[in-house]
Amino acid sequence: MKLNKRGLLVVISGPSGVGKGTVRKALFELDGHDLTYSVSMTTRKPRKDEVDGKDYYFVTKKEFERRIKEGLFLEYAEFVGNYYGTPLDIVEDKLGEGLEVVLEVETAGALQVREKMKDAVLIFIVPPSKMALYERLISRGTETNYQVNKRISKADIEFKLAHKYDYIVVNDEVFNAADRINAIIRAEHAKTARSIHTYLDMLEGENGK
Ligand code: 5GP
Repeated sequence: MKLNKRGLLVVISGPSGVGKGTVRKALFELDGHDLTYSVSMTTRKPRKDEVDGKDYYFVTKKEFERRIKEGLFLEYAEFVGNYYGTPLDIVEDKLGEGLEVVLEVETAGALQVREKMKDAVLIFIVPPSKMALYERLISRGTETNYQVNKRISKADIEFKLAHKYDYIVVNDEVFNAADRINAIIRAEHAKTARSIHTYLDMLEGENGK
């Protein structure tokens, strides 16, 4: 029985290369939830195998900046030379339909969500060690050495923001990390503040019968 009318906004964040995307995909493969992924918009060029509208909406810098001016993003950030942002209307519509919306964003964006949507659940994914992060970024082979170095320096800054999140999840094993996030989502649903009003209204309705 679902007690929350409005969906839950779940923000998965953490340094580049920590495996946010892999963990998010594993989370979506687990049973027993009703998650929907918010596809971001970016000015980065598509990588091989990336599909427009599925991995990202790929747009020009000019188009992105027009959308910033019109206030069309829930959050956005410039990350290592490119813009990334979450379209506001899609997120609002889905939350209104009672769906769980999952964002996968870097830290500046996650903290903007914290400001705008106080009841969002912020999860910080961390690697089992710094070395594991570096190895992952290098072996992924999707960036040049210059870009990898930029992402590594950025990761050092991002680690210091961990205390601003509601939960920390170590990505030691992808399945374990996804399973922990699933447990967090379930527990968040049961939080009194999220569910008590709907439940009391329901009891009230029974009294009136
Ligand atoms: P990548 O280029 O590796 O796909 O993404 C670079 C970073 O941008 C990653 O940390 C990724 O999670 C983050 N990112 C992806 N979409 C968004 C978004 O909509 N907003 C923000 N703030 N960051 C995003």
